[in-house]
Amino acid sequence: MKEAKADFAQFKKRLLALRERLVGKVDYMHEEALKKSRQDASGDLSNVPIHMADVGTDNFERELMIELIQNGEESVRNIDIALEKIEEGTFGVCEACNKKINKERLKAVPHATLCVDCQREEELGNI
Ligand SMILES: [Zn+2]
Repeated sequence: MKEAKADFAQFKKRLLALRERLVGKVDYMHEEALKKSRQDASGDLSNVPIHMADVGTDNFERELMIELIQNGEESVRNIDIALEKIEEGTFGVCEACNKKINKERLKAVPHATLCVDCQREEELGNI
């Protein structure tokens, strides 16, 4: 069991680092999105793009940002859940089938809550 504890400590470190990075990114995105909508609301002419192509890019970028904010916040939540599980000692167990999640998968996605099989099922809409 010593080994498992060392693993947990490793994952905890990674999760905390990931969380810090994500929170910073989400905050930054929030700020950028706010800035953009403020510009739109004020109708500031100096910021109105001249070419239609720019308008398209702008909308696309905003949508991308919104997606990043949402995904980022969800990831942060998942990371928090994973950190709680480490404290409880239930980290790395699939939420759907209660089997251990593959270690390689956890290394790639430390905040995964489902094993590969269940993840696939979920993506197919079976869970
Ligand atoms: Zn599973």
